[in-house]
Amino acid sequence: APRLRFAPSPTGFLHLGGLRTALYNYLFCKQTGGTFVLRIEDTDQARVVPGAVENMFESLSWLGIDPDEDVRRGGRFGPYVQSERLKLYQEQVEVLLETQTAYRCFCSPLRLELMRKEAIKSSQVPRYDNRCRKLSFEEAEKRHEAGEPSVIRLKLDSRLYQYTDAVYGPVSCGTDQEGDLVLLKGDGFPTYHLANVVDDHFMEITHVLRGVEWQISTPKHLRLYEAFGWTPPVFAHLPLLMNTDGSKLSKRHGALDILQYREKGIYPEALINMLVQAGGGFRNLNVAQTNKLFRMEELIEKFDLSLVNKNSCQIAFDKLPDFNKEVLRSKMKTPSELAGLVREVQTLVSSKYGKQLDPLVAENILTWSKGRISTLQDLLAPDMEFVWIRPANDVLSISKLGGDVVQLVIDSFLDIPTSDFNSSNVPKLLREMAEENNLKFKELMHTLRLALCGTTQGPSIGEVVEILGKDECLYRLQNITA
Ligand code: GLU
Repeated sequence: APRLRFAPSPTGFLHLGGLRTALYNYLFCKQTGGTFVLRIEDTDQARVVPGAVENMFESLSWLGIDPDEDVRRGGRFGPYVQSERLKLYQEQVEVLLETQTAYRCFCSPLRLELMRKEAIKSSQVPRYDNRCRKLSFEEAEKRHEAGEPSVIRLKLDSRLYQYTDAVYGPVSCGTDQEGDLVLLKGDGFPTYHLANVVDDHFMEITHVLRGVEWQISTPKHLRLYEAFGWTPPVFAHLPLLMNTDGSKLSKRHGALDILQYREKGIYPEALINMLVQAGGGFRNLNVAQTNKLFRMEELIEKFDLSLVNKNSCQIAFDKLPDFNKEVLRSKMKTPSELAGLVREVQTLVSSKYGKQLDPLVAENILTWSKGRISTLQDLLAPDMEFVWIRPANDVLSISKLGGDVVQLVIDSFLDIPTSDFNSSNVPKLLREMAEENNLKFKELMHTLRLALCGTTQGPSIGEVVEILGKDECLYRLQNITA
């Protein structure tokens, strides 16, 4: 069975690009009955961000993308963190020294720096001049044993490497623009290339799905597989994610880390649907032309690597609210999920307004909001404040009409059965009442808005009464005339 891995470097928090890679690895695994490995690539210790690993676990588990093997769950191929595998890389690189496909390089950082500056001055791409290739194996070993600092480099060549990318098809690429590749640094840490290839081999990875930005590394990796005498995995590179206008992912959306979407009230299903729309890769699933939500099981079933978009993947961020609205709507259908939403609304209101909300009130508002809001946070928007904050009882002072009129409204509200107390009946009734009593309808509405909301603007009165419900409306009106 296939074995796939998601191999993030903990140099930042999980963002959309990483999520897409993790998701597609996961879908492929689940479809083929494969194993999904999470490996932490932390060999660039200077760039490790504290908390990044925890963030990765939290994000993936929120999204429901659960690895089969990782540092927490364990597995036969551990450790799953590269900094705990240094000995393996050091041993393996010895093999390459012996077969002389790699060599020790003693060039000082100063020499390399001067060479780099020189190249830049003459507008050339800096590259190592492979000077230490010429040292004999014996001489190099002697200098190494005498304690002279060195790195280990892989001999690159000018050949073209061919492979069939499971997304892009036949690819042929070379490495001849570059100087020999550092595999092991002076401090005994491997570079990304060495650790990545050694681990993919020893973890028995069969398919490498990664962002297209890694495609330039693939010929070097193929060179390494060859030097070790190992069979390379299947490579599949996933195109760059972009905005719909073809620009780089914007700060506003693309740079958000995944858990920030959660904080904004976005659900994993919505995020995932937005991503798969952008990326394609599904049989008989017209993901691109609809706001329909696809469940993970459907995505797993229909996933097809060869159908992944080859051009850039444009993310329609403006569809995210609609997707989220759909998720919310479907959650409200299940009593247990609805109860969860009620608790969430209570928490949101208590943290913003410091007040305990009756669960029935919360549920009433949720019912009203179905299809209207895209996140629960929308309920805390400024024009919804009236829901959570009852008006002070002196609000009528700025109204032309007074308490007597409010009393009339109370009386007519009392006559409406609770089941008819909605946005179409109540305004009709109020209009009749205004006519009978010779009141200007507009003034009546203005007064009523003040009495119910304490504001002069907001949703229509029909909406207001429906959101608040009969009992709360009566409570507020009575409070004001008291
Ligand atoms: N550590 C690399 C990253 O951060 C992994 C690239 C790969 O999948 O080979 O994405």
